[in-house]
Amino acid sequence: MTAQTIFEKGRPGRQTSYLPDREWRPGLFDRLPMEARRRRLPLLPEVTEGEVVRHYTNLARKNWGVDVGFYPLGSCTMKYNPRIAEQVASWPEFSAAHPLRPIRAAQGWLRVMYETERILSRLCGMARFTLQPAAGAQGELCGMLMIRRYHADRGRPRNTVIVPDSAHGTNPATASLAGFNVLTCPSSERGLVDVVALRRLLNDDVAAIMLTNPNTLGLFERDIQEVCRLVHEAGGLAYYDGANFNALVGRFRPGDMGFDVVHLNLHKTFAAPHGGGGPGSGPVGVVEKLEPFLPVPLVRKGREEFDFEEDRPKSIGRLNGFAGNALVVLRAYVYLRLLGTAGLRGVSGGAVLAANYLKHRLAQSYDPSHPGSCMHEFVLSAARQKAQDVRALDIAKRLIDLGFHPPTVYFPLTVPEALMIEPTETEPLETLDAFADAMLQIAREAQQQPDLLHAAPHTTPVGRLDEVAAAKTLDVRWQQHSDPEEAARA
Ligand SMILES: *Cc1c(COP(=O)(O)O)cnc(C)c1O
Repeated sequence: MTAQTIFEKGRPGRQTSYLPDREWRPGLFDRLPMEARRRRLPLLPEVTEGEVVRHYTNLARKNWGVDVGFYPLGSCTMKYNPRIAEQVASWPEFSAAHPLRPIRAAQGWLRVMYETERILSRLCGMARFTLQPAAGAQGELCGMLMIRRYHADRGRPRNTVIVPDSAHGTNPATASLAGFNVLTCPSSERGLVDVVALRRLLNDDVAAIMLTNPNTLGLFERDIQEVCRLVHEAGGLAYYDGANFNALVGRFRPGDMGFDVVHLNLHKTFAAPHGGGGPGSGPVGVVEKLEPFLPVPLVRKGREEFDFEEDRPKSIGRLNGFAGNALVVLRAYVYLRLLGTAGLRGVSGGAVLAANYLKHRLAQSYDPSHPGSCMHEFVLSAARQKAQDVRALDIAKRLIDLGFHPPTVYFPLTVPEALMIEPTETEPLETLDAFADAMLQIAREAQQQPDLLHAAPHTTPVGRLDEVAAAKTLDVRWQQHSDPEEAARA
């Protein structure tokens, strides 16, 4: 089924009658200089207001999100986003504040940032945080640039970064974007960093190791202190990818594990909505010796008021416009203040419990990547189903028919036919059970009617897309080719 775009729905001359025409503010138009004026009217869809409402409402109803149903997308922490944070973020005192307003008139905003930084530092055992990066991946880049600066500043530049083979794809990508050579450290049988292999990789060119704990298999890196000690002994730094912090928040601090740099994903652990491609926030925390390299500006508390600290000669500079994605920071601030430390312990406890419950129920029909308990997520292999000619992708597509967002598939790369499941702490038991029932039903279908799975999904407006073509020849913009002026600019 091909849905019409709103332009295709339009008819020449059709319009809505509720808007005043441009005479509404007489004089304003006349003050625009000639060269700034359009030579002709923009080609907007000519539709009624009612058509607009229906068009977008129907599109929104085809969408899936945490507000529609269960979304166990591993590594993404698709938890419920409390509405109270949305409400605060919508207050005009925050949402309408211009970033260039005088500092005196922005004291409330600066206080939110200052206190968020203090709370995150306490939670992670770090000296300071920057709130500038707009995503986890940009936080990684920020961290890697600081690490590069740190070594250069000591007169001993280093060019290698070690990344475990189970790492999130952004880790090696970031390290190489920051100009480092990437060395891959293999995992042991247990799915953890192989300490013996790590020892062999270490030398005086190693700037850092990038790790997430729990790792992307959902396993806690038991030797983490030893890993950090070895890297430090070799003169390197330890970078913590904190996107999996939902497993540990309130219970365990990356600083205590031995890490020097940490990024967090406010849009995962701290409940800011995400999934549509932004806006996010990936604050980065550092231990004291890396403080001079933090991006500018930082929020400073003076005797009487807060202000921005710009004059930092060793800083890596600016990473974002103004002070970062402030409204995402604000949502996280509300969440942090509401939950407090006890509440945050409940978050990690609930996340780990839910994952273990699901893992236990699903282990009867799918092979877990590793035995035993997991942290906030776990990875199943559909190897058993593959022997029946059903792949992880078929299982994922069939889940859509049964009313669930699929888990992450084919990641991490170290597990064949991987299904990576992260239920989060915000789902009731009934939802977890319904999802487990659906997964077990699919395992039976794989044995009895594999073609049903090959053709899934059956209930969506479009079936299987050519994913390679969709990624390579991405076409998300409608173009009015009949207008030469617009086409020239496109
Ligand atoms: C999500 C994630 C990232 C990247 O975060 P973005 O905000 O999507 O850039 C990095 N590492 C891990 C482990 C993640 O789960």
